[in-house]
Amino acid sequence: MIPKSFIQDLLNRLDIVDVIERYLPLKKAGANFVACCPFHNEKSPSFTVSQSKQFYHCFGCGAHGTAIGFVMEHAGMGFVEAVEDLAKSVGMVVPQEASNVPQHKVAPDLYELMQTATRYYREQLKQSPRAIEYLKKRGLSGEVAAKFGIGFAPDAWQNLISAVANYQDASLVETGLVIEGDSDKRYDRFRDRIMFPIVNVRGQVIGFGGRILDKGEPKYLNSPETPLFAKGHELYGLFQAQKSIRAHQRVVVVEGYMDVVALAQHGVEYAVATLGTATTPFHVQKLLRLCEQVVFCFDGDKAGQKAAWRALENSLPHLVDGKRIGFLFLPEEHDPDIFIREFGTEAFENELDNSLPLSGYLLRELTNQVDLHTQEGRSALLQKAQPLLTAITAPTTALLLRKEVAALAGVTQAELEALYVIKPVVPPNRTAPPKSKRSTPSGLRTLLRCLVIRPELARELPNDWQGEGVEGAAIAALADWLHESADETSTAAMIQHFQGTVHEIIFASAQGEAMNWGEDFNVAAEFAGSLEKLHDESRKSELEFLHSKGLNALNEQERARYLQLLQRGQT
Ligand SMILES: [Zn+2]
Repeated sequence: MIPKSFIQDLLNRLDIVDVIERYLPLKKAGANFVACCPFHNEKSPSFTVSQSKQFYHCFGCGAHGTAIGFVMEHAGMGFVEAVEDLAKSVGMVVPQEASNVPQHKVAPDLYELMQTATRYYREQLKQSPRAIEYLKKRGLSGEVAAKFGIGFAPDAWQNLISAVANYQDASLVETGLVIEGDSDKRYDRFRDRIMFPIVNVRGQVIGFGGRILDKGEPKYLNSPETPLFAKGHELYGLFQAQKSIRAHQRVVVVEGYMDVVALAQHGVEYAVATLGTATTPFHVQKLLRLCEQVVFCFDGDKAGQKAAWRALENSLPHLVDGKRIGFLFLPEEHDPDIFIREFGTEAFENELDNSLPLSGYLLRELTNQVDLHTQEGRSALLQKAQPLLTAITAPTTALLLRKEVAALAGVTQAELEALYVIKPVVPPNRTAPPKSKRSTPSGLRTLLRCLVIRPELARELPNDWQGEGVEGAAIAALADWLHESADETSTAAMIQHFQGTVHEIIFASAQGEAMNWGEDFNVAAEFAGSLEKLHDESRKSELEFLHSKGLNALNEQERARYLQLLQRGQT
């Protein structure tokens, strides 16, 4: 666990303009900086960075966040990775808080050891006509083999003895390169295999995948889980594919390393593969952060179908409205490697363009399993759909799928929601509201805008403060957070704290609205004014309510309250 106070210190130390400029040039525009948004395609810049408030906001696609969020989204890094990366850039060292999760200490020499092994395997490939012949037969050029660092582990028990200083060193077992058998006898894990280095997003080798050249079992062998390598988190080829994924705003997920490499050989450079695991929620999140469209491309066989359904299930909680997830099933006996060699790049990309959307795949699979002509069948549909529909949090997608499933089952959306005991979908509010609304902001909205720019003002709210709607709930959550954190606080720290919570979107849109307030704008005065106005409004509506009951009908308590409210209005 990284201590929260460190995140705050880090955000204070960083300048978001410097951080973003490492990735894209920014232009000064008034109080802010702008650029064409790196997260969606556009011709005129709507991506805006506030240097004074240390956050960014895109008025086109709604992307928003702090320096940490930007690095996560732009470089596809996880939170810890992004924090480490940014801390390093300003010479800070990330402290570790004790937690229940065992912390793996990664000695830098483990990475070095992996690098040594990579160099060794690459050298061995050059010296093995048999391995070179194998790769040539698969249509791979030397250039692509070099890009992916492909190597060869010769057919011997202790290859690495000649590559490392001390074959008995514990780090060889720790990295999974060497296996310790009975009576302490050691031998190489990878023997007589084509070696595919698995690289993290920083370009460090963290594991290997080995493919057998001829017949033999297992066909594919991966490094075990090690301090460097967590299978469920890594994707083969992501480091090499990042640039192309961003340029095409698309990533295709395939089953094996050979598929990734073969696709790259044919110019499809935005492919990645999972590493001997099903697609995990972590994978989905990582990929959706990187681009607009994720296509899962699996073999047409039973195993492929199963893998695709797992990918669908793990995608549902992470769907983002406006981003597309597709499924492509190749004809039987075809994997992407065979397909692209047989039919070419254009045909493959054409298949990707026409991939089955997630919603279509979900509905197809559900309706295939039941007979919609019978009441029993429609009832079964509702049951099967329940865990899937309730897992979706993206509002528009959830809404449309609920409507479709309800229609198929012959019930209304409201009936379906009542049956599942789920809340009705609230319309999304990801983009900024239309101008007409913005010119007459509700009191709460104004309050919220002031608070996202100067969160510490929430301390001035009365202790029992309550507000209506999403704005009211967000303000209450902000006040709670401030009561808990005694530290100096900032907009950036607040954004970071509420990232991934239900309040994230409403805060982001308020930040977008307040972005053009100049440095001389008196936020505190605006805040005090709108708070006063809100009090006044609630006083008036309570008076009106009591008045409407008829003054003679009020009980003693209500009468006292009425007089109190009247007096307050006169002061
Ligand atoms: Zn954008």
